Amino acid sequence: MFLPPSNYKDGSSFSARGLNVDFDDIDSYIKEKKEVSKAYAKSISLDYPKLREWDFKLLSHFKPFYAPLCDMCCMCTYGKCDLSENKKGACGINLEKQQSRLVLLTSCIGASTHAAHARDMVDRLLEHDPERELKYDSSIDITSPIITTLTGIIPQNASDLDQIMACVEKELTNLMASAHTGQEGDYLDFESKALHAGMIDNLSLEIAEIAQINLYDLNKGQEDTPLLEIGMGVIDREKPVILAIGHSIAPGTEIIDYAEKMEVEEDLEICGLCCSAIELGRTSSRSKIVGPISRQLMFIKSGAPDVVVLDEQCIRADIFELCAENHIPIIATSDKCSLGLPDKTDEAPAVIINEILKGELPGVLIRDVKKVGQVAVELSHQVKECRKTAQEMKTSSPEDLKLTQSNGRCYICSSCGTDCEGETLSLTEHFAGQECEDPQALIEECIECGQCDRVCPVMLPLTQAIKDAKTDDKELMASFYGKCVGCGKCSEECSQDMPMVNLIRWAAQDKIEAEKFLIRSGRGPIQDVEIRRVGAPIVFGDIPGVLALAGCSNYSQGEKEVALIAEEYLKRGYIVVAAGCAAMDIALYKDEDGETLYEKYSDRFDKGGLLNLGPCVANAHAIGSAIKIANIFARVPLEKNFVDISDYILNRIGVCVIAWGAMSQKAFAIATGANRWGIPTIIGPQASKYRRLYLGNEEEPRTIKDKRDGSTVVSEPAPVHLAYSAESMNECMVMTAKMCIRPNDTPKGRLIKLTNYVDIHQKYYGILPSDLVHYIRDEKEIPFKYKDEILNQLKDAGWEPRMAAQEPSIL
Ligand code: SF4
Ligand code: SF4
Ligand code: SF4
Repeated sequence: MFLPPSNYKDGSSFSARGLNVDFDDIDSYIKEKKEVSKAYAKSISLDYPKLREWDFKLLSHFKPFYAPLCDMCCMCTYGKCDLSENKKGACGINLEKQQSRLVLLTSCIGASTHAAHARDMVDRLLEHDPERELKYDSSIDITSPIITTLTGIIPQNASDLDQIMACVEKELTNLMASAHTGQEGDYLDFESKALHAGMIDNLSLEIAEIAQINLYDLNKGQEDTPLLEIGMGVIDREKPVILAIGHSIAPGTEIIDYAEKMEVEEDLEICGLCCSAIELGRTSSRSKIVGPISRQLMFIKSGAPDVVVLDEQCIRADIFELCAENHIPIIATSDKCSLGLPDKTDEAPAVIINEILKGELPGVLIRDVKKVGQVAVELSHQVKECRKTAQEMKTSSPEDLKLTQSNGRCYICSSCGTDCEGETLSLTEHFAGQECEDPQALIEECIECGQCDRVCPVMLPLTQAIKDAKTDDKELMASFYGKCVGCGKCSEECSQDMPMVNLIRWAAQDKIEAEKFLIRSGRGPIQDVEIRRVGAPIVFGDIPGVLALAGCSNYSQGEKEVALIAEEYLKRGYIVVAAGCAAMDIALYKDEDGETLYEKYSDRFDKGGLLNLGPCVANAHAIGSAIKIANIFARVPLEKNFVDISDYILNRIGVCVIAWGAMSQKAFAIATGANRWGIPTIIGPQASKYRRLYLGNEEEPRTIKDKRDGSTVVSEPAPVHLAYSAESMNECMVMTAKMCIRPNDTPKGRLIKLTNYVDIHQKYYGILPSDLVHYIRDEKEIPFKYKDEILNQLKDAGWEPRMAAQEPSIL
């Protein structure tokens, strides 16, 4: 199913799928497609009953596994109810059903978050022009793989997206309603609904991406996107620093636009944390990328930002206190995150700025992003000026100080007045940023009781670091930067109230200032031409897998582990795509040659390619690429054909999502949606925290269908699981290779995949895997390097060669 490039002209021609296509020939075809799309648009529905059937098939192979953190339910006032030891709640629910209900709720929260973001983008597009034609890259024919597969529609303008959003919102409301006490009462139906919510999340991601790419003219899938600087050390603190935190591009672009309009863009540092950073990097080289969510605490505590602008998602719940401690004014911009701040949307910018500078307001809510642009730029200049003045005051003698005041240096915050004699200068000092009390003196107060060591969840040897620091050796303390997760437990338990996170930042100051890396600008969708190039090698197994790295690695060493996983598999010719914080994590690592992986590997969707797709919502393109392979390479029709597409992906495309790190509800929803598309996920580490998995039986062969003749075939358990949690990076390394095996692999493809699996197993576990008997169908598939040992293993297991299914399917 394809439409021609949007810039085609009648009478011309173009090439697609190796065919020369004459537009005269396809005009009627395109008209037909558009008519089909319009027909579907009249009554958009997602056909849940059919999808539910698919879920039950899927879950018959991959059983839900629960590891409840709690066996009480407190969700309504009949309770709280004890569900332990097979007891039921007052409403009749048992622990298994309750767990699946929580899974549904988690998936719904994640999906709603992305749907709300998509709604915001679509509304902005509608405001702009409801009928404006959506633009896609001319080399992309399948512009909306998720939307088209689910709804049959190829959206042409904002009104189309608006209609699809209405459908998303209706489905989400129904799903949430199912979680009410006294509604759904079957755990598989709860799971089916959780999968539905995940898929709706994925649909919302694609809607948001299409809307924002069009609104802000972002990269549309071009290769060779530029390398951008990332890291705390790339921020020039001599200039006023505006930090945008969150996931929306809207406030940041307005800040850049206003700075450019006032011609002050060279005098400002506009930077972002989390997906806002990647978003801004897609639209402007003016903005700088501080890093992923894991950098939020340290960067705020560093006192570098002069103004913090918040949009939505992944904002620390204590951001208000953190900014207040560091005297950084906050501008909240969304109803989703208002932090109790006064709504100043209708106030004049000058009045807002004055109130903040006078210290009357710690921050404001401004729901008009244009106004946010103006206030943030002007406020940042004035706060920076106050801070500089305060700094000078600290180093000035009283005489010099009087001179400075009489020179008018403090007039900026006006309330101090030019006749200020010292006390009222506190307003200027207010913005000076938190000056850590003398750290050396603080350390001396430590009684070395060791309590902090005992409570630190990542087991940092804090007492030893303090002992070292007392002798002026800060190396161990500095090494905690990147390992400390900022939980604050050490300070809570310390009888001396030691501000440990501040001390770590102080010790690591040089390291922080030198932190400079490179990341590719987010590129957006995968082009059709790239899919044509790699479709066959992926489906046959010559390219052993496509790994999609996602999730928020805000736990100790998380960033490095994400990069090491990427590096291991890039070296082996897998395609690695990443989005959101995972894309930034990869950038914060340099290999032995001192290069980041983005410098080392091309950003082509091809063997050994490393792609930054963009922010979290760009995860849509990872799922979209699998759909496109099914459609472009295997010609599986798209329109409202979710089940066939997902069955194809599950059995034939070696794609795997790895969500490494703490998993927000959004990441949960993305991963659960991917599962419904037949894409397995590995989550971790700290596997015990993930409360629901979908596990296959890895000990037994799997019975599937061969669609070619309808026969039943005994096949390998591949993919082995649908949602698996790995306890450690080593386990993830090994499991990833195994999760990319598919029944459809050719003998050559299987040999390549098994060679990687065996090599990696040997490298990280020191032994050969013991389950090769399931995966070797023919002697030709035995990795050469270990042939004798493996043959012995097969002999012991009574192995015999077998035929592979020609068209494997679970339908
Ligand atoms: S929802 Fe059911 S199990 Fe939970 S508190 Fe209410 S009655 Fe008890
Ligand atoms: S808990 Fe406090 S006093 Fe005890 S060792 Fe740690 S920092 Fe020192
Ligand atoms: S704040 Fe950092 S050092 Fe302190 S307990 Fe938490 S992880 Fe450990």
